[in-house]
Amino acid sequence: MTDRRNPISPAGDLCAKIQFAHCPRCGRAGLAGRGDSAVHCRACGFVYYHSTVAAVVGIVEHDHRIVVTRRARDPHKGEWAIPGGFVEPGETLEKALARELKEELSLEIDQCAYLASFASEYLYRGVLYFPIVAYFTCPMGDIGALRPKDDVDQYRLVPAAQLLEEELAFDADRRALRAYGQQTD
Ligand SMILES: [Zn+2]
Repeated sequence: MTDRRNPISPAGDLCAKIQFAHCPRCGRAGLAGRGDSAVHCRACGFVYYHSTVAAVVGIVEHDHRIVVTRRARDPHKGEWAIPGGFVEPGETLEKALARELKEELSLEIDQCAYLASFASEYLYRGVLYFPIVAYFTCPMGDIGALRPKDDVDQYRLVPAAQLLEEELAFDADRRALRAYGQQTD
């Protein structure tokens, strides 16, 4: 879910990107970045892996249109996104997708198909996360149950080709919709 104002930049100090000043185990200062995804405590030897975090997004299709949602919370409050969220420990991608669409839209999906994945960045409360976002298409014959909830305060049903890229909060959504357009052309 890349922010276009914070493009992906693998080089640089991970400690600065995640704003950790002290070791989460021993509490002492003196952390050092180790590669692109870990932080090492020189005092106690602890290594914290700030690895990729899995996320899922569902392109909900109904009557040649797709569902886009307006974000009710920061980051990117008030901007539009394709519905989805982070995978929780123990979940499969499919389970996480079903849970997120239920939580955000009250929708019970009965089928979904993998589309593509995109690496992203997500800045939350000063900490930069590195999601890998898996996109699925979810055809829905009936969306009568659809109600925005939780992290979403509005939704629209729009033909994907008419969605303006600049309306979208996340670059990964823009890239996914291009891939979706190529698939459905
Ligand atoms: Zn330590």
